[in-house]
Amino acid sequence: MSDISKQPHEKQILGHPSGLFYLFFAELWERFSFYGMRALLTLYMIDVIFAALAERDYATAAVYASYGSLVYASTVVGGKISDQILGMRNSIFLGGILMAVGHFVLAIENNMAFFLALSLIIVGNGFFKPNISTFVGTLYEKGDPRKDSGFTIFYMGINIGGWIAPLLCGWLAAKYGWHYGFGLAGIGMLTGLIVFWSGIKKNVFGDRGLPPNEQVMHKKILGIKQGTLIPILAVIAAPLIALLLSSYKAIATDGIFADQNIVNVIFKGIGIAVLAYLAYEMYRATLDERKKLIVAVLITFFMTIFWGFHELSGSVITLFAARNVDLDGIMTAAQTNSLNSMFIIILAIPISMMWTWLTKKKSNPRTPYKFGLGLLFAGISFYVLAISGASANANGLVPFAYLLLMYFLLSVGELFMSPVGLSKMTDLAPLRLMAFVMGVWFLSSAFAFQIVGFIGKQLAIESSDGNVGGLDTLTTYTDGFNLIAMYSIGAGVIVLLFSPLIKKLMGNVH
Ligand code: GLN
Repeated sequence: MSDISKQPHEKQILGHPSGLFYLFFAELWERFSFYGMRALLTLYMIDVIFAALAERDYATAAVYASYGSLVYASTVVGGKISDQILGMRNSIFLGGILMAVGHFVLAIENNMAFFLALSLIIVGNGFFKPNISTFVGTLYEKGDPRKDSGFTIFYMGINIGGWIAPLLCGWLAAKYGWHYGFGLAGIGMLTGLIVFWSGIKKNVFGDRGLPPNEQVMHKKILGIKQGTLIPILAVIAAPLIALLLSSYKAIATDGIFADQNIVNVIFKGIGIAVLAYLAYEMYRATLDERKKLIVAVLITFFMTIFWGFHELSGSVITLFAARNVDLDGIMTAAQTNSLNSMFIIILAIPISMMWTWLTKKKSNPRTPYKFGLGLLFAGISFYVLAISGASANANGLVPFAYLLLMYFLLSVGELFMSPVGLSKMTDLAPLRLMAFVMGVWFLSSAFAFQIVGFIGKQLAIESSDGNVGGLDTLTTYTDGFNLIAMYSIGAGVIVLLFSPLIKKLMGNVH
């Protein structure tokens, strides 16, 4: 059965090509660095970078949103350059090195260094993240039944990194200082690169991931080989992106773009361009393709809403944890960032087994129902935080159990949507649009951060005193969470109501 894809010379571990485990550990350490840093980012901006501002929450929300949007949007560019010029291996090395340097630059306490560091991580992630994910896919031949479980194992790696990193980096930051936390994130990234490099040395990848065509690498532009030019351009891009990030202030106090910065406006442009291109492709497509593309657009749209609430974990929810959750003797606010990944590790296998079991009983719900339920779970999770205020103590601190339950429900929602959506996108897109549709999938996370920024700004607390919290901030947050819960539950109900129709559009795709 699966023998077709087993190349005789390739070593297998646990029934998978051994290369999977090198990619697993490389991605585990890369996500370790990504999420270790993310756990500290919001609090670091509030306490250090913007500490002198009364509107520090607002500035932090704006920069966090721009960083998140760009860190995911860059993957579209990185994926394309890899496909056409660099190949996955070179891209992963380039991206990993840039990210590691970025984390180390964060150790310098200076505003310009801070923005430059975030930019290096943005460019680095653009080269690393999409390519390591597609690399996993290349380990299996088309139709290999082990591919799904290969991706599940890989998703575990992501979340082991996302679970441990906030605990360790958060602990280091609290005990020894921010820069030790960021430094450990950088060491994590270097470890990931060493794992990847040792995989190449042991030849576990065969000839996969090499540049698509050596000649393209050597082709000269302005007298410089493309293979050399791209890393140079990547490094040059970083200070330019830093300029964008540092434009976190509104570009007009009055008028059409009041309250928006340059990155917000750029993302509006990207949104319109993507929609226009999709409309053009739909116009050209056959009827069956068109129906499936509509579903792909809907999946992306609902995914954007979901991530827009989910990704609040690194910003508003971290602040809520710091200001209004009783964490005494349990963990620090930065460390609460590990809870989502912890629940994903616990729940990923049981939930995927549940789908297999339901398939056997011929009652595995089709994708739109899972999406509707996923949004409902997300909504209920925020509702838990909304009602937590009623149990606050005299200092305005709510019991930790609410936060724990919230992350449990949110993680169930994530598992109903993210892995399912990703695999459906590959089924729904016509082959000629596959790369573009995958790019749009990553863009859904990028656009989600625009929602995160909007909500973060609405819930920003203005204060001339850094030590805000307690009863002063409690209702701002709980009212906000209540509204988010309503939107998410409303979206979930709408998806469920339209599911019979969406199901029809999906044709034979489950
Ligand atoms: N947690 C997942 C990862 O880090 C997905 C995050 C996202 O796409 N917003 O890969």
